[in-house]
Amino acid sequence: MELLIDARSLWAAQTNCYVIAPERGGPAVVVDAPPDPDGIGALLAAHDLTPIALLVTHGHVDHAGGAGAVVRTTGVDAYVHPDDDYLTLHPAEQLAMMFGIRVGPDDAAALAPPAKYETLADGQVLELGGMSFEVLHTPGHTPGHCCFHLADQGLLFSGDQLFAGSIGRTDLPGGDYATLMRSMAEKVLVLDDSTEVLPGHGPTTTLARERLVNPWVQELLGT
Ligand SMILES: [Zn+2]
Repeated sequence: MELLIDARSLWAAQTNCYVIAPERGGPAVVVDAPPDPDGIGALLAAHDLTPIALLVTHGHVDHAGGAGAVVRTTGVDAYVHPDDDYLTLHPAEQLAMMFGIRVGPDDAAALAPPAKYETLADGQVLELGGMSFEVLHTPGHTPGHCCFHLADQGLLFSGDQLFAGSIGRTDLPGGDYATLMRSMAEKVLVLDDSTEVLPGHGPTTTLARERLVNPWVQELLGT
């Protein structure tokens, strides 16, 4: 099945928000919700899509800050790994700490997390809209970071684990470099070379290309 996939880079952090759907005019899964619900709505509307679930790669506010607004507007379930509760439950505090942005009461209300998150677990397979999303728990950038693998299509939504030519930073609270590298070796680099990688920031790439050009991947491979 050839899927409809589109992305917009949203908010100050230029975070990629993805929609994945079997076809135009039907149900769609959203991956990551930057704190720009209007931008997410415009991306869905561009393809006449109806969201059925929101998958959040990790709890940083540039990926999860719009989750509450999306859930309150559309009624979909949002999914995140519980090890990132220390982030997802405190978006306004993160804005102040990570970006130096202090929000007023109205903006803080818009940022409020969903009343509840559904929980992701490693190895879980979510069947959504006829598509199978395998959850790969890849701690390191944050403790609860997850990638989403569509094995049938050879796609990996890599969040802030792996970028084209780079990796996610590990200097923020909860980040750990050795843990990120172990996730890379055990969960990401075991996937097929032809896997297309759709990261949380920047352009798409493939695992084959990252093996050739990404210095962190090469360090792991000893090349
Ligand atoms: Zn992040």
